[in-house]
Amino acid sequence: MQKMIPVDEALNIMLRCATPLPSETIPFLDAAGRVLYDTIKSEIDVPPLDNSAMDGYAVRFEDTRGAEKNCPVKLCIMDEIKAGDFSDSITLTPGHAIRIMTGAPIPRGADSVIPVEDTTEEEDHVLLFRSLKKNENIRFAGEDIQSGQIVLKQGDMLRSAHVGLLASLNYEQVQVYGRPSVAVISTGNEVVDVGSPIRKGQIRNSNAYTLYSEIKKYGAIPHYRGIARDTFEETKKMFQDSLEHDIIITTGGVSMGKYDFVKNVMHDMQIDVKIETIAMKPGKPVVFGTRGNTLFFGLPGNPVSTMIAFIEFVRPVILRMMGMRQLDKPFVNAVCDEDISKKPGRRHYIRAFFYADTNGDLHVSTTGPQGSGILRSMTQANCLIILPETVEKVHKGEKVRIQLINHEEI
Ligand code: AMP
Ligand code: MG
Repeated sequence: MQKMIPVDEALNIMLRCATPLPSETIPFLDAAGRVLYDTIKSEIDVPPLDNSAMDGYAVRFEDTRGAEKNCPVKLCIMDEIKAGDFSDSITLTPGHAIRIMTGAPIPRGADSVIPVEDTTEEEDHVLLFRSLKKNENIRFAGEDIQSGQIVLKQGDMLRSAHVGLLASLNYEQVQVYGRPSVAVISTGNEVVDVGSPIRKGQIRNSNAYTLYSEIKKYGAIPHYRGIARDTFEETKKMFQDSLEHDIIITTGGVSMGKYDFVKNVMHDMQIDVKIETIAMKPGKPVVFGTRGNTLFFGLPGNPVSTMIAFIEFVRPVILRMMGMRQLDKPFVNAVCDEDISKKPGRRHYIRAFFYADTNGDLHVSTTGPQGSGILRSMTQANCLIILPETVEKVHKGEKVRIQLINHEEI
């Protein structure tokens, strides 16, 4: 039996084996959740022209000097510019105003816009009830993006705002890293799938579906392969039938029981097993190996262990293969609402719920019993309290580190 490998070392070993997948070109509208392969430089200014930030009147700020509620300045309206209009021939002459709409180009000669709320229009002129500063309510050409500027970098995860940005730069297609195809295999004589008849002594398969959903959430392509009964032959057959995938994940069958075959099968198939046990709780028996470009994760059978092992190891590996640079899940500190004890040696991941008190300070409470079979507590958790290897006790009121989970952030 291998010595327990520390969590960080285990993750480093795994990440070293995870190479970004070849790129593909996809429609920009499918880009959310994918990782950019190219670096994107803008060829245009955004916005392309100086334009009005308000509905109002384009004026010269000097012409508004001294304007007040009780002593308005009166300017003659000489023209109107709507959003989408453009004319080189319109020039504001001193002592005049041009009616202008939000987003419409600022005419030559104007240097500020007075919002309609600060004016009254009467026949062919407008009364201004306040003075303006130079450039007020003007959005300048290139103030969002300048031509030649790098706007998106290789390795950026594309989100909704990025898709909008691609649209404003007229990118109909975008080059992104590929997505790993991930096989999920359940193991266990007692495990029965949803919808099949169940006997006494059997349990429903939940792990396959938790993992399927997680794989999908992070942008990889899940393939559920079924349940391998606890025999060497059936487990091996399931592995062999899944070899076309980039990653193969099994759950269960990695402990020390007589009928736990996953490790034997991996060794038999000449998979280079690099990790067999990790210094964490839950999730100690996590097996990791490689053969060629295929990565193999033997995750524990207990539903919570499998999920935490996925979050801590498979998730960053998937994201690395998808080309992402930033792999850490967000951490914050929170005040612990209760005493927690643990044995030293392993890193603990405790299901918990964080909230802000009336002062806005973050607190965290555990979701109750932490047995690794209690999946319901995972549904109630919005974070994991991470207790370092050396810690033995946390007192109520002490700050602890929490890792945010069950959010759509990555
Ligand atoms: P094992 O490591 O195979 O001994 O499994 C550890 C525990 O996890 C046992 O109580 C199993 O019944 C349970 N378990 C294994 N696979 C699954 C699964 N796919 N869904 C839910 N529970 C499982
Ligand atoms: Mg089993």
